Amino acid sequence: MNATLASETNWPVYGHDWVVQLLQRAIAPTGETGSAPARLGHAYLFTGPQQVGKTTLARAFAQALLCENSDRAPCGECRSCRLMAHGNHPDFRLIQPLNSDGEPDRENGLLRVEQAAGIIRDVSTSPMEGRYKVFLIQDFQRAHPHFANKLLKTLEEPPAQVVLALTASDRNSLLPTIVSRCQVFDLRPVDAAVVALALRQQWDVDAEQAELLARLASGRLGWAVEQQTLPDGLDQRTAELETLWRLVGANRIERMAFAASLASNRDNRRLFGMLALWTTWWRDVMLAQAGALDACSNVDCKSELQRQADALSDAEVRRYLETLNRIEGYLHHTVNTRLALDVLLLQMPSLTTHRV
Ligand SMILES: [Zn+2]
Repeated sequence: MNATLASETNWPVYGHDWVVQLLQRAIAPTGETGSAPARLGHAYLFTGPQQVGKTTLARAFAQALLCENSDRAPCGECRSCRLMAHGNHPDFRLIQPLNSDGEPDRENGLLRVEQAAGIIRDVSTSPMEGRYKVFLIQDFQRAHPHFANKLLKTLEEPPAQVVLALTASDRNSLLPTIVSRCQVFDLRPVDAAVVALALRQQWDVDAEQAELLARLASGRLGWAVEQQTLPDGLDQRTAELETLWRLVGANRIERMAFAASLASNRDNRRLFGMLALWTTWWRDVMLAQAGALDACSNVDCKSELQRQADALSDAEVRRYLETLNRIEGYLHHTVNTRLALDVLLLQMPSLTTHRV
């Protein structure tokens, strides 16, 4: 990736500047040239919403640490940086949840006990290229308890040349014994202006489209990038918004039928994407009720937002946003998806005279 970046850190990362700066300080040599960085930890945990940039940041950290030329930012040109860019650096490992066939599956897979055994064997051998080996373990909230327990000792005291970087949706979804062994960085949503800038600079998105995507992204650059690369990205959003509007005007039976179809679908990625969209929608309705429509995310739907804002009570919308937030939390953990989805649908504000 070319580094014409928003931040002054020169990392291939947009936003999260405070984390980048702390990591830069961690990898900077403190003694004479060539000495080991005294502040470098052995285990880092990056938490935050889906597609907010946890993996991008962890990879950039790995690249900076492995880079041959720089002690603060990856140069992007050395052999090590090129190997990272091509995804085949011999001292970098990406460990992802696997499904029962052993295929990577970030939605429904698990980090399995045999993967932990592999990591433990792997950390004990020396790096091939440079001074470090970096293990990026993705989606630690999907770790089987045996995986997590088996790794405790490694996380506590890995060999000197090993750095572990973990990502997870939030720290509360992990065993406290894991969290306490890591330096934790809670990534917050990236500013919409930074998302728009990234889309224009790095992905050549035109200004108007970048603005819309940035507002819809709720601070998740990864989501915005994905939308503009999918051929039907924004069409899918339009279809989902139309479904939401239909549900607002639907009766109890129609809503229960929709909950049933969602529950049977078992497509978590779509489900959580839909919940994120619904959250932006109801937050926008609340903004419209407060007379702040200009700050909304769904800038292309202002008249429908205003219509719903006028027809519903402030309290009802605020309560539903709380419900959405709570149910989304449950859905990450609960086994009773159907019950959670019933509540989600039945408590949605109702506009019975709604036209579609
Ligand atoms: Zn380099």
